[in-house]
Amino acid sequence: MTDKFQCHFCKKEFSREKTLEVHLCEKKRRWMNKDDKHVRIAFASWLHWCKKSGLYLNKKGGLTYEDFMNSTAYISFVKFGFFVDDYNITNYLAYIDFMIKNNYKMSSWNKDSTYEYFVKMNMRQESIDDAVGKTVKFIDKWASENDQDWTNFFNEISNQQALDWLRSGRISPWVFFTSEKAQGLMNRMSDEQLILLNKYLDINWWQQAMRRKAKDQQFVEQIVKDYGL
Ligand SMILES: [Zn+2]
Repeated sequence: MTDKFQCHFCKKEFSREKTLEVHLCEKKRRWMNKDDKHVRIAFASWLHWCKKSGLYLNKKGGLTYEDFMNSTAYISFVKFGFFVDDYNITNYLAYIDFMIKNNYKMSSWNKDSTYEYFVKMNMRQESIDDAVGKTVKFIDKWASENDQDWTNFFNEISNQQALDWLRSGRISPWVFFTSEKAQGLMNRMSDEQLILLNKYLDINWWQQAMRRKAKDQQFVEQIVKDYGL
């Protein structure tokens, strides 16, 4: 009698080892993809979601990747992993917390509008150090990638790039509304673009907030001046 070679994942049996090696089933595919960037994000997100939702809390030995790939939520989380990777959402665990807190259905996690709302709210709450720090870092990266002096940032970027980066939280409104060069960029925007800008940021809200927080405003003014933005 010949030995049987069995797939660990779907339990199918093969008479030749070679056939097992090239065999591919859904579960085996999920296993083989486990190191892909979007799948690693998906797994970390699923673990976080389980913890926050109180699911599988008592599982002996903790949750493994196999638990994840066998769960019914696998596909949804992998889609979420793609979304996070696409948008380059570095604080995606905070994004998950936000969606749990606000009772968002998983089907709307990957919507542009959901993420936009999260960014909009998050930018209002982040500390002035975080807001300015991430913006300066982003502008520095732009300068080296484009072989540009970073003082040219708001002169050189297109209106659409500015909108995209404000919408995704890369540029903080603190810096954007303080810089005179950014003011020039805003003046070059069409009416449609200004409507979008207001949708992403709520200009009125920021004007009031910046007046209220005079000390933070002075700090940002100094930074903008020092860096020539
Ligand atoms: Zn199989």
